[in-house]
Amino acid sequence: MTKTKKWDIIIIGGGLAGLTTALHLATNNYKICLIEKNEYPHHKVCGEYVSNEVLPYLQSLNINPFLAGAKKISKFEITDIKGLPLKVNLPLGGFGLSRYAFDSIIFDNLKNKATIIFDTVEKIEFHNTHFSVSTKRKDVLKADFVIGSFGKRSNLDSFLKRDFMKQNSSWLAVKSHFEYDFPEDTVALHNFNGGYCGLSKTETNAVNACYLATFKSFKKYGDIETFQKQELSKNPKLKKFYNKAIPIFKKPLTISQVSFHKKNPVENHIFMIGDSAGLIHPLCGNGMAMAIKSAQIFSELFIKAFQNNHFDRTNLEEAYTSKWQQEFGQRLKTGRHIQRVLLHPFASKVGFSLARAVPSLLPNIIKKTHGSKAV
Ligand SMILES: Cc1cc2nc3c(=O)[nH]c(=O)nc-3n(C[C@H](O)[C@H](O)[C@H](O)COP(=O)(O)OP(=O)(O)OC[C@H]3O[C@@H](n4cnc5c(N)ncnc54)[C@H](O)[C@@H]3O)c2cc1C
Repeated sequence: MTKTKKWDIIIIGGGLAGLTTALHLATNNYKICLIEKNEYPHHKVCGEYVSNEVLPYLQSLNINPFLAGAKKISKFEITDIKGLPLKVNLPLGGFGLSRYAFDSIIFDNLKNKATIIFDTVEKIEFHNTHFSVSTKRKDVLKADFVIGSFGKRSNLDSFLKRDFMKQNSSWLAVKSHFEYDFPEDTVALHNFNGGYCGLSKTETNAVNACYLATFKSFKKYGDIETFQKQELSKNPKLKKFYNKAIPIFKKPLTISQVSFHKKNPVENHIFMIGDSAGLIHPLCGNGMAMAIKSAQIFSELFIKAFQNNHFDRTNLEEAYTSKWQQEFGQRLKTGRHIQRVLLHPFASKVGFSLARAVPSLLPNIIKKTHGSKAV
């Protein structure tokens, strides 16, 4: 049976970007419908280190990660493929919190303020003044605005024929939680041929290990266990970790075809936020902060545009695109450069030598991929 409803805004995808936008706008009395395909709580492939730059904004929305047990992180260790370390204090610092906990504390805060539907969106159509959104269970919902917060790769990217879907994405990612003796104030990034692995503690004291690798480097080994034993473990730090750490999950979570190609922040009049608008290389440890910050940018522009008696959709689309580029364009570019250097054996060797010789270099690079705390 087909039902018809009307909302101010339909938000598609309830990860950090969608949940935060829904909370911000619902608190400002907009009629919000959030559609998410998975029930909460659920684990996600993610490094689970969050930059402190989002703390003031989260606080303004009544979200306190430390009440959920988040670990304060102030130190960063990076090793080259031989396991030689470089250690620095993080300029802003951050916290360790699983996505299982993080997404669900925002969901708990939101659930009485907005309508939340668990379903998969299959179609979004724009009809001059409004949208219709069709779901797998054959609901058709109508709204004045649609926000796309459906993550790095979704069935909707194919539906919308987005350009990045035509390009090859040769990255895969693996994540799992482990029991392991690891300092809770540290986030580590260990390099290996063809990728890097992040380690940090979460609220349960489990260590989250999440790595990103090129499909080319993985394909030689064919399965996760062999890849970890024979390629990742060439780095002594990872060898020690995979030898001693006790897995908590029955099997690791995996994703493939992770794309870092450019995307448009507005597509077919849909405002894209979070990874739907662009994914920064995970080694920057900043994708979640960008997802939350893009929610803030959109929500503030939207509320301001509505206070203006002469609301104009095109003006809002232009303002959002320009603000998004201004805030994130340089970070994404820097992330792409660092990734290229780290994965090139010679450039990486030179980079590590330089960073050892000039201690201020690494903190400065970190600052370039992060925003300031005053958001
Ligand atoms: C390997 C790896 C490690 C990372 N490590 C870190 C890190 O340590 N720190 C950091 O800050 N960032 C990290 N990131 C980036 C971070 O995970 C993302 O930037 C962040 O999750 C973006 O949030 P989001 O809300 O945009 O997307 P997501 O969290 O992916 O949410 C998208 C949601 O949309 C839903 N959805 C999709 N399609 C539909 C549909 N058709 N209908 C309904 N629902 C739909 C999905 O179920 C999902 O819940 C990492 C990324 C990767 C790949």
